[in-house]
This record gives sequence, structure tokens and C-alpha cells, in this order.
Amino acid sequence: MERQKYQLSPNVRIISDPESETAMVYHTLYGNPRIVNDESLRFLDFFRQPASAEEISKICDGDPRDIIREFAEIFFLVKPCFDEKKFLREKKEQQLAQVQERRTIDRMGLAISDLCNFGCAHCIHFQPAIDSGQVLPMYQRAFPQLNMTWETAKRCVDQYVVLMREQGRTHGKIHFGNAEPLVNWPVIERVLEYCSKMDDVSFEFAINTNMVLMTRQIAEAFKRYQVRIATSLDGAQTANDTIRITRGGQGTFARILKKFDHLAEIGYPLDGFSITVTRGNFELIDTDILDLAIERRMTSIAFDYDLVGLVHVPVEKRIAKLMRLKKYANEHGIDFFGTWDSPFRNLTSESLLSGDYAFCAAIQGKALEFNVDGSIKICSHTTTTVGHIDSFDEMFEEESGLMQIVASRFPGTDEYCSGCKIEGLCGGQCHVTREVVSRSVSEEQQKLFVDMCDFYRKITKALAIEYIRSNGTVAVDNRQTCTL
Ligand code: SF4
Ligand code: SF4
Repeated sequence: MERQKYQLSPNVRIISDPESETAMVYHTLYGNPRIVNDESLRFLDFFRQPASAEEISKICDGDPRDIIREFAEIFFLVKPCFDEKKFLREKKEQQLAQVQERRTIDRMGLAISDLCNFGCAHCIHFQPAIDSGQVLPMYQRAFPQLNMTWETAKRCVDQYVVLMREQGRTHGKIHFGNAEPLVNWPVIERVLEYCSKMDDVSFEFAINTNMVLMTRQIAEAFKRYQVRIATSLDGAQTANDTIRITRGGQGTFARILKKFDHLAEIGYPLDGFSITVTRGNFELIDTDILDLAIERRMTSIAFDYDLVGLVHVPVEKRIAKLMRLKKYANEHGIDFFGTWDSPFRNLTSESLLSGDYAFCAAIQGKALEFNVDGSIKICSHTTTTVGHIDSFDEMFEEESGLMQIVASRFPGTDEYCSGCKIEGLCGGQCHVTREVVSRSVSEEQQKLFVDMCDFYRKITKALAIEYIRSNGTVAVDNRQTCTL
């Protein structure tokens, strides 16, 4: 009988569900959730102190070696003094090498316009560079350049295609975004035409738009080029019109719905939309917005609480509402997701032992977001630039901004997160929230990060309980959920 001693990893966590009398055991860095009964919990409990298979066999029935081996493979049981983060450091080095060798980027975004016809104060894009306690919308600020030129757009696409060819990829993804891209429609149209004429590569297109500037001709072009449309409706009429407003302060619900109808009329209906909930519309959001989606036979709703401002509603209340809406949506065949399910998605889809993940693809160095002036970011809403189209190759040098972001955001790297219940699964949350908090001088904004940590931990637990009760049938796909 083997004399090697094992002990329970300090990174193992248990989520118990008294109702089903089962529990989920998982590793905070590597995931690998297992739904177990009391007997398995008691077995793991033997290893609170280092113990060998020989010692355990004396107090439990049967030969424990197979089960010890199984738990050791997923790091639930480790040898005493084993350095669990060593493996993660090696994974990080591999990831950084991949970034440096230009092999990670699989999507690009064009910040087509920094202008918007709406005036929503909660817009993630319009957060001030320095927190003066006041949000100053972009359209009131002086910027040298607000729209991307065709020449810049073409250079960015060409550079992306060079990368694709280097990687041997024949299929790419181009996203049009930033403030309201339709303000600069002629450039989008030229990009669509230009890309569609390339023989050796094909593209998937997506756009984030409020749709109000979408004419019949633009809608037809979306259909022709199969552009996936991500749009927002922040609740039924009153809830939406409280926060999603024009620059003149008027509600936008009716105008947005008219565009939903236009797309349906041309045979290119939306399959869903995004809902953002802030302190302004929290109490007004309910299942009526889901009824609207159900009536329109939609299949997917992205839901998110404000990522850049405190909602001023207790976390428990936010989670109760979210889970109630999710249940209602799921019962009607609607996928209901958001930034909030990233840690749970990581927990149930892939282990860092066998694959890779982070809070989002942006911080893994998978996305290139070109600003209107050709500067480059990891996500269209972040403010940190990591390069420029004029000096593209420098972005992949050892000390570059891109390498620094990927290195600092690798799961298990941040000291602040060390020991957190969802450390590797969350990996430090949304980069935009971090930026907003780090440049903020207001005490209230400083609370945002801690509030979001509390939220991510508790929503992950709520989803885990739902998962346990469904015997693992409600796990979310390994999809990129950030639609912001
Ligand atoms: S950001 Fe917060 S919730 Fe996420 S891993 Fe770090 S401490 Fe945990
Ligand atoms: S989750 Fe990632 S992609 Fe989404 S806004 Fe945050 S940093 Fe950007």
C-alpha cells in the first residue's frame, strides 16, 4: 500500500446544498467541479491532515487508491508543501509566448465612430478619463478626430489579414463598435464590401448599435453581409426610457422597437438584445421585458448590471432579481447570460489544467481593437492603449503594453485575488471596472470594485446551487459573453 501522504488542497472549496443533500467541490484555481454526496465529503475530510492511502484504508471500506489518484489529478488532494501555483506560472509563460509569437489574436474591432446620437449617462464607453465626480458625455468633449477614416479602417483590416495568414487562419471576425458606429456608416459599408471581395479569407461581422440611424438600405446591407446585430433595450418602456435616452433627454423605446420591426419585415429579425440595469432602472426591470422577447420569438438575452457605477442595491437583492429573470427566460427557451456568468462559465466549461480561460477574451490577448486614430486597445471600452497601427510589430515585444496586460491579468497572478473563492475562475474581473476604479478619486467609486467582487462570488454560488439541483444540466457554454 502506497505510503505517500496527501492532504486536502487549501484551494478546495465546497458549496453545500441542504435541499438536495449534495455539494459541489471545486478548486479555486483549476475548477473541475464534482457533485458529491456526504460520503465523499467525509472521505475528503480525512485529508484535513496529511494521510497516506494505507492510513485511510484502515478507517474506510475498500481500497482508496483509485479515488485518491482521481482527486490528486485534479489537485483536490496534493502532496504536503506542493506549490500549486507553479503549474499556473508555467501556463502563464506559455500564454505570454503565444501572444509574443502573434498566435493569440483571433478577432478585431474597428472603433468606427466616437460620436453617439444618444446621451445615456451609464454608457460604458463614455466614462471620464479622470473621475471628476461627473460624467461628461463624449459629444460634449473636444476630440481631434471622431470618425475613423476609410484609409485607417483599410490599414487595420489589412494588418489583421496579415496576422490571419501568418496563423494559417482562413476565417476571421470583425466587430464594428465604439460609440455609435452607424454615425459613420459609409466606412462600415466599404469595409464590408472590401472584406467580402477577398478570395482566401472569409469573415463573420458583428456590430453594436442602438439602431436608430439604421435605414432600410443599411438593414438590407446587414442582411446581405449577415452582420450580427447587438443592440440594447434597457427594459420595457418606462425602464428603458429612464436611462436609455437621446441627447435631448427623450426616451428611445418606441424608436428602437420600430427598428426591431424593420429588421423583421425584411426577413432578418433580431434573435435578442442586451439589457443594462443601473440604479436608475433597477426597480423598473421585470419579466415584462422578457415577455416582449418571447412574443418576438427571440432566443437570447444579454443582461448586465452597470459595470462602471454602483447600482446602490444590496448584492442579495440584485442576485435574487437576476436569478428570477434567468429562470423565467430559460423556461421560455431564452438563453440568459451576461458578464456575471464568466466565473461560473469558466468553472463548468474548461479547467486551466487542460485548457485556458480568463475573465474575457480581451485580457487573454485575443482581440485587437483599433481606435478611430489607429491606436490599439484590448477591448473597445478600455482606456489603456497597447499599440498603434503605425508601429504594429512593437505590440508583440517583451515589455509592450499588451504583454503587460496579459501577464498581469493571468488567473492566479493578482495578489489582491489570492485566496479568493473564485480566484482562477474570475481572474480579477472586467478590465473596464478596474480602470474606472483605479483612476477614480471619489470614495464611492472606490467601493465599486469590492462590491463587484462580492457580486461575482455570490452569483457564482447561486449558479452553482442551480447547477447542483439540475444535476449539471444547466452549465453554460464556453462562449464569449461580453457583448458590451
Ligand atoms: S476580482 Fe474579486 S471576485 Fe474576482 S478573483 Fe479577484 S478578489 Fe475574487
Ligand atoms: S469583460 Fe472584457 S471585453 Fe467586456 S468590457 Fe470588460 S474588459 Fe472589455
